[in-house]
This record gives sequence, C-alpha cells and structure tokens, in this order.
Amino acid sequence: MTQAPEPSAPPLFEADIIPGYEEATGNSEKKDFPSPPDTVPGGEGKPWDALEDWNAIAISEEVAKRAFEKYVATKCCYSEVPAREMEIREAQSFNTYRYCLETFVESRSSKWKTEPYRGDPVDSSPDGMAPYPWAVRVDASAMFKNETRKVIVPHTSSVMTCPSCHGQGKVSCSSCHGCGTQSCFSCSGNGECSSCSGTGTVTCTFCSGWGETTCSRCTGRGKLLTYLQLKVTWENKLFEYVMDHGFGFPIKVFKSVKGQQLLLDEQPMVSPVVGFPAGIINEVSRNALNKHQAMFASTTPISGPALQDPSTATWSVIEQPSAEFPSTSWILRQRQTIELLYLTRVEYEWQGKFYSYYVYGNEHKVFTEDYPQKCCCTLM
Ligand SMILES: [Zn+2]
Ligand SMILES: [Zn+2]
Ligand SMILES: [Zn+2]
Repeated sequence: MTQAPEPSAPPLFEADIIPGYEEATGNSEKKDFPSPPDTVPGGEGKPWDALEDWNAIAISEEVAKRAFEKYVATKCCYSEVPAREMEIREAQSFNTYRYCLETFVESRSSKWKTEPYRGDPVDSSPDGMAPYPWAVRVDASAMFKNETRKVIVPHTSSVMTCPSCHGQGKVSCSSCHGCGTQSCFSCSGNGECSSCSGTGTVTCTFCSGWGETTCSRCTGRGKLLTYLQLKVTWENKLFEYVMDHGFGFPIKVFKSVKGQQLLLDEQPMVSPVVGFPAGIINEVSRNALNKHQAMFASTTPISGPALQDPSTATWSVIEQPSAEFPSTSWILRQRQTIELLYLTRVEYEWQGKFYSYYVYGNEHKVFTEDYPQKCCCTLM
C-alpha cells in the first residue's frame, strides 16, 4: 500500500454550490429586515412627569453619615475617628441621569466542515433543498446575552470515501515505509550486538511491525462526512451615557451602582426618546440609535433633525461599540433605559477643618479624596 499525501483543507467540495451559500459565508441571501417603528416612547403620561422635584436631596443626613462610617470601616488605612466625630455642615444633591442603549445583534456565517463518518443517517440533498441561512431556525437562549451556536444546515450532508486512505482506514507506516522493521539503534544496523540478535534490524516501534497505521483523517473509518456548518453569533452592543455636571465628581464610578429607573423601553427596534426634561438625553438617544442602526447593513436611517457633532458637544460616553457590526448581521432586539442616579455632596467639619465626600447610587456608595486620617500604607 502506498501512502497517500494529506490534501490540505477541503477544496474537495468546490463543485457543491448550494443556493444562498455560494461563498459558504452566508451573506448572499435576502431577509426581510424590520424597519424602525413610527411610535416614540413617552407620549401620553410620560414616566418622568412626576419628576418635578428630582434635584431634591435624595438621602437624609443620618443615611449620609452611616454610609460614610460603613465606607471608612472597609478601608484598613482609614482611622474611624474622623467619620465618628465629624459634623455635617452641608449636604447638596447633584442627581443626574444615565441613558443606556442595548442593541442585540445576530450574525450568521457558514463554512464547509469535514469529519470522520461514524455511520449516522445522512441528511443529504435528495431529502430536500437546503434552507437559506436566515431560514434555518436557531434561537438565542437568552436576549441581550452574548452567545455562539453552531448547527448543521439541513440537507447539506454527504458521505465520501476518504481520499487519504482510499477507504481502507489504514495508511502505510511513515516510519518504516511499510516494511515493519527499522534499523537497530544499538549497532546502527551492522548486526554486531545482542539487541537485534545479530540481524541488524528490529521491529518498527511506530507500527509494531504491521507496516501500516490508522488513517488520521478518517480515524480508520474509511469515510468522511461533509456538511455546511452554520455559525450563529449573538452579541449585545452597549451604549452608555451619564450626564456630567462638570464639578469634578468622577462619573465613571456610577458604573458600579444602580439608579431609579424612569424608562424601560424594549422592542424589536426602539425609537429615540422625546420630551425628556433634560434635553441632552433626547439628543443622546437619537444619536446612539442612529449609530447602532447605521452599523447594521439593511437599516432605514431614522429621519430627524441634524445631529450635533459628538466631538464638540458635551458628551460623556462611557462605552461605545468597539467594532462595526458584521454585514451579515441584523438587530434582533433593542432596549433603552433612563435612570435617575442619586448623588449627594456632603461637606463636614472635623477638628476645625472642612472636608467632603460623595454618596452615590441606590447602594449609597461613598467616594472621597480628602479623608483626614489615613496611615502611610495607603496605596495610590
Ligand atoms: Zn482515511
Ligand atoms: Zn543490533
Ligand atoms: Zn512501521
């Protein structure tokens, strides 16, 4: 038996052209993509109508003091004395808003796969036409969660004789070239030793003297199964914006807290927020939606007034999609939220000097930079 050379990856199936999979990339078929809805969130009885007094102090002095003591207790380098003895002089609220847009995108791609055939029933083309990539039913297990699934496209499987072993399941041993013996290591083949009993050769250790080994391509089965594999990827793109009053509080820390939810709008496609009391939120919503929908190949752009240039506006975008959506993707679902984030600046006195800290979020987390008594091991 001669050893067949291993052909590189499968151009074996060039002849197979399946409608919709011409490039086995899955991007040549059509799908009726949905258009953005005409309705806008809000309308009658907007959820934020009761928000006239939104800038009032959200927490009492007692709560502010307790939050501070709790925070200091978690810091090994902070003495608890100032937090216990301090007197609050002023507490001022700087509540702000957070807008979030999540765009849940599905993309599909396909490629030919080959694997050893294990004898299972074969779903081949005589059983029916292969469905178009977007017609193959594959559902995400959860919305707004990243996930990847791979499935076999129906009616694209076929079985063929393994070209490496010509269906034999065995190939000639590459170590002894099929003869089953190899030169003796101890005497280098001259026969002047006891290891080979004077013959100069020993049994091939690679094939144990059989002269052939199991074909690695078909794992000895002699047949290969080929099929189109459809890869479905779900990705949740997040856009997040927090209004910055610009007085120095690092709005990044809001990432770790929750606020009071004022709007939860989830639909196949959402429309820009209108009529929100803080106008920048309406603008940010419109801009974020345009951006996400522009990245999705077959969308109809949302009509509306010209957008403010993000580079000159007072934007404070925490996170944006890092890469563009693939052209074979579409928006499965969108969700936008507006939260009211609590933020209180507390000024306090201790031993005749003034200091300050912030309490923020539903969780009453604390941020401070000028705590009076820290020991030397404070890391910065
Ligand atoms: Zn084989
Ligand atoms: Zn020998
Ligand atoms: Zn061998």
